[in-house]
Amino acid sequence: MTTATATRELTALDRCDRCGAQAYVRAVLQSSGGELLFCGHHSRAVEATLRPLTSDWQDETGRLNEKVHQTIDD
Ligand SMILES: [Zn+2]
Repeated sequence: MTTATATRELTALDRCDRCGAQAYVRAVLQSSGGELLFCGHHSRAVEATLRPLTSDWQDETGRLNEKVHQTIDD
């Protein structure tokens, strides 16, 4: 691993940059090192175009299955 950005677990305080829902994917841009957060829905929507531009694609969408009964309309 050569990334300088520390990986951290996403929490309920991390919000999707597109819609404000809880974020489950953290993307770090290669060019700027900027960090983007996406919910499960938007991570799938942008992954094909965005992921090749990232140095780190931290996908925690697997955790969605544990929480599927909570705040699904949020
Ligand atoms: Zn979203």
